[in-house]
Amino acid sequence: MIIVLKPDATKKQLDHLLERIKALGLKPMISKGTERTIIGVIGPEDALRAQPLEVIPGVEKVMPVLKPYKLVSREFKPESSIIHVGGGVKVGGKALVIMAGPCSVENRDMLRETAKAVKHGGAHVLRGGAFKPRTSPYSFQGLGEEGLKYLREVGKETGMPVVTELLDARDMHLVEQYADIIQIGARSMQNFELLKEVGQSRKPVLLKRGLSATITEFLLAAEHILNQGNFNVIFCERGIRTFETLTRFTLDLAAVPVIKKLSHLPVVVDPSHSTGEWEYVAPMAKAAVAAGADGLLIEVHPNPEVALSDGPQSLLPKKFAALMKDLKRVAQAVDRSL
Ligand code: PEP
Ligand code: MN
Repeated sequence: MIIVLKPDATKKQLDHLLERIKALGLKPMISKGTERTIIGVIGPEDALRAQPLEVIPGVEKVMPVLKPYKLVSREFKPESSIIHVGGGVKVGGKALVIMAGPCSVENRDMLRETAKAVKHGGAHVLRGGAFKPRTSPYSFQGLGEEGLKYLREVGKETGMPVVTELLDARDMHLVEQYADIIQIGARSMQNFELLKEVGQSRKPVLLKRGLSATITEFLLAAEHILNQGNFNVIFCERGIRTFETLTRFTLDLAAVPVIKKLSHLPVVVDPSHSTGEWEYVAPMAKAAVAAGADGLLIEVHPNPEVALSDGPQSLLPKKFAALMKDLKRVAQAVDRSL
């Protein structure tokens, strides 16, 4: 249920309304827009049917939300959300945000070299995994806390906020200490305990789409985070499993306009994991920006041949820089800046 307040509703009227909602055993979530305040009501809505809230002073209308997700919906918040990720970088505004770096933090020197290169190319956020979700238990699993330390150090040196994956809810406070954006990987999208955990944080969350998740399931995964009080969620479309085998996954670019229509939260696209091959990264990155993505997550490695993970899809720094130049023109064509 969504309650829209009158534009001239007073603080006293709002407080009274919140009290009534709580007295009915429901949870009010407030969205303060530039024009008016909207309250999302979470809980068994039957309680509301017997209690017509329309009659409470300050209330303009009460609307049922038919979709299964509520707080992520545009009904709850008509204006697009802008997520502040640190260092003055904002995701969801007119300016595109490029997150780039290696798949894994392999050691301090390679991270520093990659960070300097992506910064020079125009990236805004440094990415790098310290806890790696690997298909095989024999593959490199990441440096753990040591990797987080390098990320923090190099992020500071190069003036970029950092994004890194949280794989296990027990590491939440550790990752929170070092990361500016907490990434929830595709394989964890439906780890509901992990979603609840990051919902307790106030750090921005980069939520990646599950390998076989529908858009509705993706939106509902975000709802778990917002429901805990963390509204700083950024969606990341990273490709889904289909019958196609010539790309690693199938990049579902239609998800970008669909999510932007249904939700107020920003959407970034990962052309690296979705294609699995560096040659396809640039065309899909350009297509993503043309489709309305708010940013990109791109893997870059100074020597992909020896990368400990995802070498085949990693761009060389000079290819990344060339792509950034092309992206500027695409951005301009769709009224975005880079
Ligand atoms: C990643 O971005 O490091 C990653 C593992 O991606 P995904 O979860 O989308 O596979
Ligand atoms: Mn990777």
